[in-house]
Amino acid sequence: MYDIIIKNGQLIDGTGKPAFQSDIAIKDGEIVKIETSIVDHSYETIDASNHVVCPGFIDIHSHTDATITTNSRAESKIRQGVTTEVVGNCGMSAAPLTVDFMEEVRNHLIINSDFGKPDEIGVEWVSFAEYVKFLTKLPLGINLMPLVGFGTLRSAVMGVKTGSPSETEMQAMEDLLELSIDQGAAGLSTGLEYVPDCHMKTEELIRLCGVLKRKNKLYATHIRGESQTLFPAIKEAIRTGEESGCKVQISHLKLGGKANWGKTKELFDILESALARGVRLSWDQYPYVAWGTGLVDYIPSWVISDGHEKMIEYLSDAQTREQIRQEITVEIENGDHAYNTAPWENVQIAMVRSEKYKDIMGKRISAIADELNVDPLEFVFDLLIHEKGSIKTLVFCMAEEDIKTIMAHPRTIIASDARALATYGELHKGSTHPRYYGAFPRILGKYVRDEKVILLETAIKKMTSMPAQILGLDTRGTLAPNMIADITVFNPNTIVDTATFDNPHQYAIGIEKVILKGKIIIDKDNHTDQMEGQILQT
Ligand SMILES: [Zn+2]
Repeated sequence: MYDIIIKNGQLIDGTGKPAFQSDIAIKDGEIVKIETSIVDHSYETIDASNHVVCPGFIDIHSHTDATITTNSRAESKIRQGVTTEVVGNCGMSAAPLTVDFMEEVRNHLIINSDFGKPDEIGVEWVSFAEYVKFLTKLPLGINLMPLVGFGTLRSAVMGVKTGSPSETEMQAMEDLLELSIDQGAAGLSTGLEYVPDCHMKTEELIRLCGVLKRKNKLYATHIRGESQTLFPAIKEAIRTGEESGCKVQISHLKLGGKANWGKTKELFDILESALARGVRLSWDQYPYVAWGTGLVDYIPSWVISDGHEKMIEYLSDAQTREQIRQEITVEIENGDHAYNTAPWENVQIAMVRSEKYKDIMGKRISAIADELNVDPLEFVFDLLIHEKGSIKTLVFCMAEEDIKTIMAHPRTIIASDARALATYGELHKGSTHPRYYGAFPRILGKYVRDEKVILLETAIKKMTSMPAQILGLDTRGTLAPNMIADITVFNPNTIVDTATFDNPHQYAIGIEKVILKGKIIIDKDNHTDQMEGQILQT
């Protein structure tokens, strides 16, 4: 007697092997049999005729740690077919904290990664072990693998300040990283474009990555620049992996800014020559022409280095404000400001917290400034003050052709770079990036079926066995007997994302069932409220 038999589906096992028709039997959370015409009895039978049955997707680049405490069903992800998310990316994680710098780290997380208002976070942990314990107590609707964010680690050891760490601080970071890994962290992430990660030298990162090499854990890096300084930043990531020997994952690989468009050959020459030298390198991508980031990216890093209260003070003081304005003007003239990659007409406000500015969500900064008849930069300053720095934007700066070329590379993994939201409640407020709801179905609908950029089997492999292998997940990512039954069933003829830049809060269509550890979580349009998610450790 099985728990579930999925009958007559087109099995795509995640290895890249062609689809084949078969039944699949599940018992006690595991796949126990893959055969044509399984005749034994089961409590539940799913008819998957004309549907694809594949491993649940593994989202190697997610930010759901910022929302999982608000809604632990992780709906905008599980409804894409995602069953496991790697969180704590881009240098920002909820742990480890230290008692000494608790407030500073919390302020840093709020301003940089929208971890919620101070009174909403409800932090019950200090160490990584306590954080894992906290997560374990939640009824989880998805599996999570938390990374240590470097910004959090550094701030926990030395506060949010500029400059290089002392030798003592350096050692403390290594020790705290090692301890956190022993307590369940899947590796380390950096957000080298952001404060305070940007203060870190390559040599110091290589030292920290030595810990990852010893522990065989992942280094996931949002590199130091994705537009003007893209190529040196890629080389830095490669050097970090080459000199430390650890596994490096370049996060959300892209050619940002018009000047880089079309340079895919140059990009892959660098990446492939590193692979040929034996660097343990991989990368991921989300399938959209805009990135999502904070408006704070448009002001000099020293303005936000000391937290949002200082930032407000600087921007409110007429003289300092003028100084900041001049600094930005010079940077723009020199061609090395965020504005050079994406001028105001390319920057759309996705999310503000206040009532006062709620009508600007979904609009471009140039249009808002026109409407209000104000200077765009002055408006940006005022907005940063009013929203305490916490403004999310969509920045349109990538070329569709490059996205396809990167996608088609055999080493590219699919990821979302998104936190899980929901179409109701707290997580439905404001606008957001459509990738939060649509990244994976968009690949299967737009890029596989409609535009034939990659084969369906290849796309599934990029979403399942490839990330599983990098993460050391031996029992997930492929369909085979004895593997955990994390399974997605979808209709290849109808699957597509429906979330758009103007209307992002919409679930994808075509996902029929999502099974987590042998329990059906998504049953057509319904969430069954089964919460079988776990914190995965390898
Ligand atoms: Zn990032």
